[in-house]
Amino acid sequence: MSEGPGRPKRPGDSTRAVHAGERERPASDAITTPIFQTSTYWFRDSEEVRAYQEGRKPRDEYGRYGNPTWRAAERKLADLEGAEDAVLFASGMCATTTTFLALLPRGGHLVTTSDCYRRTRQFCQEYLTKLDVETTVIEPADPKKLADALRDGTTLFFTESPTNPYLRVIDVAEASRVAHARGALVVIDSTFASPVNHRALADGADLVLHSATKYLGGHNDLLAGAAAGGKELVGRLRGAVGVLGGVTDPHSAYLLLRGMKTLSLRMARHNENGLRIAHMLEAHARVRRVWYPGLESHPDHATASRTMRGFGGVVSFELDSDLEGTMRFVDRCRIPYIAPSLGGVESLIEMPALMSYWDKPRAEREALGITDSLVRLSCGIEDVSDLLADLEQALASL
Ligand SMILES: *Cc1c(COP(=O)(O)O)cnc(C)c1O
Repeated sequence: MSEGPGRPKRPGDSTRAVHAGERERPASDAITTPIFQTSTYWFRDSEEVRAYQEGRKPRDEYGRYGNPTWRAAERKLADLEGAEDAVLFASGMCATTTTFLALLPRGGHLVTTSDCYRRTRQFCQEYLTKLDVETTVIEPADPKKLADALRDGTTLFFTESPTNPYLRVIDVAEASRVAHARGALVVIDSTFASPVNHRALADGADLVLHSATKYLGGHNDLLAGAAAGGKELVGRLRGAVGVLGGVTDPHSAYLLLRGMKTLSLRMARHNENGLRIAHMLEAHARVRRVWYPGLESHPDHATASRTMRGFGGVVSFELDSDLEGTMRFVDRCRIPYIAPSLGGVESLIEMPALMSYWDKPRAEREALGITDSLVRLSCGIEDVSDLLADLEQALASL
């Protein structure tokens, strides 16, 4: 699907979201890729086993090493990310942990950012330390701090972009230049962006990770993770998943394939709803501060405007209230569900202090930037007028 003189123009996002990945080796004439609900694959005879082992007969062998339903989802994601290859995992966390275990050597060094998915940070602290891997945590979106943190022997710079919950946006091109100059790989968790809003590989990253549970799946009905990048790196991850075992269920892979077909349509609505709601909240007297990269007040607005095609559906904001008042506000909202996660068609709302960080004392939460009146709203694809009216009436209760 590459462009060039005499070659057909690369089809648009929606065309590729629907068609990419699907047409190879059809098992029937079904439009949809079937769910290959199998744990293993049979061989006609021993000669076929030998041909397979010697690479003369490409096919699947066992369900932990491959499945045609995943392969279709992997091809679709690779196409959407502009990657040579992609690999699925059982969850977003599994994508992160498998990538770290596959790429970091014993005694290695990892640089990551402070505004970061909590379990990723926990993995670094509790598990990577067992391999004597040292983690340096830096402020997001500061190439100078990155340059200072890198050293000879740094294997990876890993960051989300946008980050959670403050939606900090990394200048991936700049970060990649800085990291590559020191020989470090750049891995971007692009869950909050999706390939519709940002293509980190095109900006120079080596690998893009996703919690496919979020925008890629898009319907709050599956757990999956993915990595996309060059053939060699993705091949190493594919090998690692075969050993570590965090494979996707074929049924989830089917739901993911189905979800990705509407990614571009859904993202357009998520982007639109997110921006409208961020503006409304910013203008509201009872809202102390809004974090949304599409707002001029966001510290990374310039980077986001230059590098992203949309700012997504997640809006974080702090109310002019305390823990109790914020709980009342959340409880008064009628459309969003009170739930963790993001990126689905249903709007979800949560207080990070109460949902992900309640086990930590207030002082420790606040040191991580998680205040009592912080709210994270994942705008779904509902009509924006309904969402606006709902938030207005809930704010009026403060
Ligand atoms: C949800 C999330 C994860 C973890 O993904 P799971 O699919 O829940 O395992 C990792 N990174 C980010 C940015 C996420 O939002």
